[in-house]
Amino acid sequence: MLAERIGRVKPSATLQMNTKAQELKAKGLDVISFGVGEPDFDTPENVKEAAVRAIREGKTKYTPVGGIPELKDAIIEKLQRDNNLGYTRNEIIVSCGAKHTLYNIFQVLLNRGDEVIIPSPYWVSYPAQVLLNDGVPVFVQTEEKDDFTLEIDILREAITPRTKAIVLNSPSNPTGQIYDRKCLEGVAELALNRNLYIISDEIYEKIVYDGHQHISIASLSEELKKRTILVNGLSKSHAMTGWRIGYAAGPEEVISAMTKVQSQSTSNPTSIAQWAAVEALKGPQDTLTEMVTEFDRRRRFLVDAINQIEGLSCRMPKGAFYLFVNVKEAIERGRRRVSSSSDLAMYLLEEIQVAAVPGEAFGREGYLRLSYALSMERLQEGVERIRKGIEQLYQ
Ligand code: PMP
Ligand code: GLU
Repeated sequence: MLAERIGRVKPSATLQMNTKAQELKAKGLDVISFGVGEPDFDTPENVKEAAVRAIREGKTKYTPVGGIPELKDAIIEKLQRDNNLGYTRNEIIVSCGAKHTLYNIFQVLLNRGDEVIIPSPYWVSYPAQVLLNDGVPVFVQTEEKDDFTLEIDILREAITPRTKAIVLNSPSNPTGQIYDRKCLEGVAELALNRNLYIISDEIYEKIVYDGHQHISIASLSEELKKRTILVNGLSKSHAMTGWRIGYAAGPEEVISAMTKVQSQSTSNPTSIAQWAAVEALKGPQDTLTEMVTEFDRRRRFLVDAINQIEGLSCRMPKGAFYLFVNVKEAIERGRRRVSSSSDLAMYLLEEIQVAAVPGEAFGREGYLRLSYALSMERLQEGVERIRKGIEQLYQ
């Protein structure tokens, strides 16, 4: 008999869709995957070289649990340079990907029944991680008609005496929304007045378009910085998903508790990946600029193409690399064959071999998330397939 907590959550839908697409590919099917959020670019050469060097130099042993000092210093420099935030080594922890960082945070913050506010649509793993750590996810709805902006009045209403933290994810997966200064100031005021932690997941910080600015909420005031746990990682900014490097910066008390948990669970993140991460943060950043330029090109193409398909619509995302496509009309018109976005995702996978993640996984029925982390050629072919698939659905 397994522990009761296991029954509270489902496997990650994003990773599951990825596995399913890979299984079909292994069977010889030509699947076009708009599923998982993973840059299709290669890890930059200088970063790979740094890892090879680390292996050759024998940097292959245990490291300090919370990360090598060289990486902590590179993170400190990055946070100062990009986010105007000053931290010391005791306020930084490196973990096995930002997902692991977040898990550690919930481990150290939550007592049974503590509530965590999560704006919805949300990234799949936030509620699951809260539930696995005996917490209660409380959702604050954001609406497509408002560009998925977080309304401070609605947020205020969601706060109870049990609220422990608010999760922010800007730029957002799946909506691509970026919270502006006014919105962040509203969140900040509530967090300070009600003594809440802010967990700020900034993993898409670098993937922004049209001159939009990412603002790190901790930079709004020194007081707020003391209540904020900033989460970031190298998976997206440096196409390093497989290396598993994420980190947090925050109050020493929280970071030290996370380090304690990590010392008894995973120990340090891989030594070689840490040395590669030092290079990623300190070396040239031009591959990032190229990547964002290419994502931007795809974003414009895809938004335009999707909006030309009858029954589908989407807004222009400001950041990250996803479209959150409204498929309500398509479901309505295809009632004979599909009755939910999960059905529609399955239909697209089976009929035209296109993988997308259903909106339910992000807390919003009637949407599909398309990741545009695939080449322009595949994107074009994928859109053509979707167009035909949707036409067929209506027949
Ligand atoms: N946060 C968000 C919003 C994400 O989309 C992801 C997906 N990779 C992560 C955190 C975790 O990233 P990783 O564990 O690869 O660092
Ligand atoms: N974060 C990415 C996504 O949303 C990668 C998969 C995952 O970690 O959930 O697709």
